[in-house]
Amino acid sequence: MKVSENLKSIIEKIEESCRKSGRDPRDVKIVGVTKYVSEERAVEAFEAGVLHFGENRDDGLDRKRAVLGDKPVWHFIGSLQTRKVKSVIGKADYIHSLDRLSLAEEIQKRAALPQKCFVQVNVSGEESKHGLKPEEVLDFIRECSEHDKIILEGLMTMAPLTEDQELIRKCFRELKELQEKIQQLGIKNAPCHELSMGMSNDYQIAVEEGATFIRIGTALVG
Ligand SMILES: *Cc1c(COP(=O)(O)O)cnc(C)c1O
Repeated sequence: MKVSENLKSIIEKIEESCRKSGRDPRDVKIVGVTKYVSEERAVEAFEAGVLHFGENRDDGLDRKRAVLGDKPVWHFIGSLQTRKVKSVIGKADYIHSLDRLSLAEEIQKRAALPQKCFVQVNVSGEESKHGLKPEEVLDFIRECSEHDKIILEGLMTMAPLTEDQELIRKCFRELKELQEKIQQLGIKNAPCHELSMGMSNDYQIAVEEGATFIRIGTALVG
């Protein structure tokens, strides 16, 4: 399938979910996840109108940046090893996987300009998933607020891999509630106005529950 056709159908589904939940579709941004596809396919996606791109490894980010440069907005969505920070910083506009203080400290040390980050939260509690436990997030955000090179734009999660739609919905809803608590703290470098949630098989639920960035690979470029 052409990316343009996939994109059209995804946009229609986003619009449908927005109608259901009373949201403005302009508040939902699609991050095209190109980690499994070629540079050519990424270029095709850009030409089809995808403005945000997500990669989960530093070398993948470099390869896609080599063909698309600074034209798109770049998102680093994979778990980030501390020693890899220096090869991602300055290249990714957003890092979606901030999940520990040592990583925040390394970003603080390496960043020339403030770095937009998402705190990754393991809402589902699955052991295979990265991220802070929901009950750890508020303290973590208070601690991060000492680092002026980090801007906490929002929260990120991955829903469990399940057919159970209600379980997925509950997971997204919890992330939204956590966001509201963080916003009440009124911390200057933690505006936390974004929610990065929803992938190919659950983005409609995520949009209904308030996602502002959905990260789509398979359904868009696969
Ligand atoms: C791979 C990946 C995606 C995209 O997954 P699809 O199911 O292909 O849409 C989204 N988010 C993260 C963190 C990923 O690693």
